[in-house]
Amino acid sequence: MEPLFLYNTLSRQKEKFDPIQPPFVGMYVCGPTVYSDVHLGNCRTFISFDLIYRYLMHAGYKVRYVRNITDAGHLEGDRDEGEDKFAKKAKLEQVEPMEIVQKYSLGFHEVMGLFNTLAPSIEPTATGHISEQIEMTKKIIAQDFAYEVNGTIYFDVQKYCEKNNYGALSNRNLDDLLTNTRELSGQGDKKGRLDFALWIKAKPEHLMRWPSPWGWGFPGWHIECSAMSMKYLGERFDIHGGGMDLIATHHSNELAQSVACNHTEPVKYWMHTNMLTVNGARMSKTAGNGFLPHELFTGKHPLLERGYSPMVVKFFMMQTHYRSTLDFSNEALSASEKGFTRLMSAVKLMDNLKSSDTSSFSLEELKKKCYQAMNDDFNSPVLIAHLFDGVRLINSINDGTATISASDLQELKKLYQAFLYDVLGLKEEKSLGGSNELAADLMNLVLNIRKEIRSKKDFTTSDLIRDELKKINIVIKDTKDGAVWEHSV
Ligand code: AMP
Ligand code: ZN
Repeated sequence: MEPLFLYNTLSRQKEKFDPIQPPFVGMYVCGPTVYSDVHLGNCRTFISFDLIYRYLMHAGYKVRYVRNITDAGHLEGDRDEGEDKFAKKAKLEQVEPMEIVQKYSLGFHEVMGLFNTLAPSIEPTATGHISEQIEMTKKIIAQDFAYEVNGTIYFDVQKYCEKNNYGALSNRNLDDLLTNTRELSGQGDKKGRLDFALWIKAKPEHLMRWPSPWGWGFPGWHIECSAMSMKYLGERFDIHGGGMDLIATHHSNELAQSVACNHTEPVKYWMHTNMLTVNGARMSKTAGNGFLPHELFTGKHPLLERGYSPMVVKFFMMQTHYRSTLDFSNEALSASEKGFTRLMSAVKLMDNLKSSDTSSFSLEELKKKCYQAMNDDFNSPVLIAHLFDGVRLINSINDGTATISASDLQELKKLYQAFLYDVLGLKEEKSLGGSNELAADLMNLVLNIRKEIRSKKDFTTSDLIRDELKKINIVIKDTKDGAVWEHSV
């Protein structure tokens, strides 16, 4: 096996992958904050790490993949300011914060399932690890890297900087960071502008609270990932990942906390995915430009001309390297749909190919190129380009302008099984027959007829339509904006 190279954000270069204790690999990825639906940008990050997870396993590593669920402690701003996201949503929907957590965790898993991603080995929650976060905070205080102000514990960045580089991950110097950090309200409590909370004293109205040596409170957002990665992967592990937007604050704070606590660099390779953008702007929950996956599948969004299936959307993402930005557009998605259909048709065609005595091409060469692409920092677009070279070959064999031996034909099938299904995590999709466009038009027709029926209060027939569609794996959901549909997988 050729060596695998991956880009390390910390060293800002590609490095040969050399796990701490091969064949074991510990990988931690910052998971979703489950106070609302995940948007397509979040999905891009998790789909990218699914690719990395899949390829590492394909390469023979035994990976323990930990992806957390943030279900407490995330305030509106990254630097301990603003309202608690969960409490705010719970108040708005008049439910318990844990009902919000349950609803959006289930939604997240459903979407990850639609994108055919593998479940992580461990999916710990922040609320399930409060004592670990308190213990870690105690240790950091004992090492003199944190201080208490009125029940809130702050990490002392200035003290940390005496012997360590707080800007190591973001590649920025301290003066730069200080000038670019806003003065915040409530700043008065902190000694330094870059200090951040490890534990936050709960205000009387704060719903999610736990007892601690410093009184009732809740953990800061950053400490959860340090505490949970240490619990499940040890003080030093191989890969830590997340979106690039996490580098400057969340991951820089995680790194500082762990170094202060354990006196060792916690992570060998820091990996970050680039952003999904819409018209050049980062897709984000707060900016309000986030497509929900089901809006993309159904086409029900003002920016969408029509719906695209989960595998087409995934293929669209895989056609760009995880470290490049990916701008959303209808044209790009339509092109991906054509490409994906062509690829899947060729794969089906392989079953009908007739073998000859010899092959007129080198299968080894194709296979080597596929591995080279993935060994070069998981370069999925280059891999896909090689899979399309294979498509041209398959079509040539089919029309008699190229030949393949029986053993190479078996190998070719294995190659597509490995790269298309196991590594890229794509799969064949059931469609209604015909193109997805036709399916979308037909379903809009059905939904309009059902709307008409419901307006006449004939709920028996309307439910019958819904139940019959369910039998063919089409789920109708009645929302406040009308009915929407999706394939259930
Ligand atoms: P959140 O639920 O906001 O904590 O985000 C979950 C993950 O999605 C984090 O790793 C983020 O870095 C990542 N993320 C957020 N927005 C985007 C985006 N537009 N493109 C790619 N990844 C994103
Ligand atoms: Zn994290």
